[in-house]
Amino acid sequence: MTTPEEAPALAVSSAKRVNIRIFATVFVGLVCISILALHIFFSWNVRSKDIDDAQVATANLSRALAEHAEATLTSADSVLFGIVQRLEVEGNDREALARLYPLLASYVKELPQLQGLFIYDQTGKWLVNSLDDSPWMLNNSDREYFIYHMTHNDRGAHVGLPVKSRSTGDWVIPVSRRINHPDGSFAGVALATVTVEYFLKFYTSFDTGKKGEILLASQTGILLAERPLQVDSIGKNISNENLVSDHTRRNKRGVALIKSPRDGLMRIYSYKRLEKYPLFVTAGVSYDEVLAGWRTETLLQSIGVLILVAMLAWLGKRLVNQIKLRAQAQQKLLAAREKLVEMNKTLQKMALEDSLTGVANRRQFDVTLANEFNRAKRESQHLALLMIDVDHFKKYNDTYGHPAGDVCLQKIGKVIQMNRPGDLSARYGGEEFAILLPNTDLKGAVNVAEKICADVRNLNIPHGKNPTGIVTISVGAQSIVPNKNCNLMDLVSAADKALYTAKARGRDQVCSSDDEIPPACGPG
Ligand code: GH3
Ligand code: MG
Ligand code: MG
Repeated sequence: MTTPEEAPALAVSSAKRVNIRIFATVFVGLVCISILALHIFFSWNVRSKDIDDAQVATANLSRALAEHAEATLTSADSVLFGIVQRLEVEGNDREALARLYPLLASYVKELPQLQGLFIYDQTGKWLVNSLDDSPWMLNNSDREYFIYHMTHNDRGAHVGLPVKSRSTGDWVIPVSRRINHPDGSFAGVALATVTVEYFLKFYTSFDTGKKGEILLASQTGILLAERPLQVDSIGKNISNENLVSDHTRRNKRGVALIKSPRDGLMRIYSYKRLEKYPLFVTAGVSYDEVLAGWRTETLLQSIGVLILVAMLAWLGKRLVNQIKLRAQAQQKLLAAREKLVEMNKTLQKMALEDSLTGVANRRQFDVTLANEFNRAKRESQHLALLMIDVDHFKKYNDTYGHPAGDVCLQKIGKVIQMNRPGDLSARYGGEEFAILLPNTDLKGAVNVAEKICADVRNLNIPHGKNPTGIVTISVGAQSIVPNKNCNLMDLVSAADKALYTAKARGRDQVCSSDDEIPPACGPG
C-alpha cells in the first residue's frame, strides 16, 4: 500500500514518463526526418554527378568534333593553296588547265570529304574542275564566296555558306581561295566543296542517345551540318537561338543547359569554336535521357525509404501509445492507492475512535490504560482515572427520545475532551465515559473531575426528570502509584466504586475515597 511519502515519488515518475513520451516522439520524428534528408541528399548528389558526367562526355565529344572539322577543312584548304600557287605561277591558259584537271581529280579521289575542286576566272566562268561531266556553261559569279573574293584582297581560306551543288545537287560547304594576276588584281577563285554528308557520316558514329544532337555551324549562326538531320535545316539561320546569341558568340567553349527552340527538348550542350575557321560545333545530350536512369533508381529508392519511414513512424506511434497507456495505468494505480490510504486512515480511526462522540473508544482506552499503568509502575508515577456516568439518562431517553440522547452524549463527549498531551478521554460504554490522567495525583484528578462536572452543568441541557432540571454527571475519581503487587483492574474498580458512591450520595458530584484503594496499591 502506498504511503503518503510515496505519492510525490509516483507523481515525479509520471512526469518523467510524459518526458519520455515527448522524447520518444521527437526521437522517432528526428530519425524519420534524418532518413528522408539523407535520401534526398544522396539522390541529389547522384543526380549532380550524372549531370557532371554528361557535361564531361559532351565536352570531350565537342572537342573531338572540332578537331575533326578543323582537320577536314584544313586538308581541303591545303589542296586549294597548292592549286592557287600553281595557277598564279603557270597561268590559266588551255595547256595549264589541261594539266591541272587530272591533279584535281586525284585530290578528290584521295580526300573523301571533297565533293569537287573548281577553278573560276574573274567573271565567274568555270575554267576547270575535278568532275568529268560538269556543265561547262555554268557561271558562279553570283555565289557568296565568289563575291567575297572579288571584293576582298584577303589571301586566306574562306569558308562560305552551305550551298546546294549546281553540279551534283548535294549540300556542300564551299572552302575557297582568291587567285590573283601577277599584278595582284583579281584573277578568279579556287573552290573546294566539302560534302555535308561527310560530316553527317562522322557524326553518326557517335552515341548521343535517342534525343542527342550534333551541330556544325558558322559563327554567324548558319547551320552547316546537323545530326539528326532535319528537313530544310542546312543553311538555316539559328543566330537568334540562345545557344548562339548567349554562348558560342561570346565564349570559345563552354557548357549550357538549353531548351532547343527547334524541337523543344532540354539538352546539355557543350560547344567549341574552331581555331582556324569561323565555325563552331556543339554536342548535346537530352537532359531527360541523362536523368532517366537516375529518375527510375531514385523512384524505387524513394518508395523503399518511404516504406521504411512509414514503418518507423508506425512503430514509433505504437511505442508512444504504449508509454501513454502505461502512464494512464500508473495514474489509475496512483489514484487507487490514494483512495486506499484514505480508507486505511478511516479504518484506523474507526478502530480507535467512538463514532458517536468522537472520543477514544473502549478498545483504545483498554490498550492505553495497560500502557500507562505499566509506565506508571516502572516510573513510580501517579496514574489517575475518572469514571463518569450521566445521571438518569434512561429517563432522558424516555423523555426526549433516543436521538436526543445521542446528541446529549455528543455534547458531553466534547466537554470531556482533554487538552493535556497524554490524557485520554474515552467512551467506556453506554452513557459512561472514562478519563485517564497520567502523572496526576488524586487532588489533581478531583480538580479535573469538578471542572468537568461544572462544564456539563453549564451546557444547560434540559432534563425534566433529573432533580436539577438539567443534565448532570456523576464522577468517581481515583489515583494510584502502582507497585509490583498492584493490578490495573484495582484502579478501575476503585474509580468505579467511587462513582457508585457519587451516585449513592445524590449524583451530580465527584467522589473519591482512599478506602477503596486496595492496600497493595498504596494511597494515590
Ligand atoms: P443512573 O443515574 O443511576 O446512572 O441512571 P441511569 O438511567 O443513567 O442508568 P441506567 O444504567 O439504568 O441507564 C442507562 C441508559 O443509558 C440506558 C440506555 O438506554 C442509555 N444509553 C446507553 N447507551 C446509549 C446511547 O448510545 N444512546 C442513547 N441515547 N442512550 C444510551
Ligand atoms: Mg450507567
Ligand atoms: Mg447513568
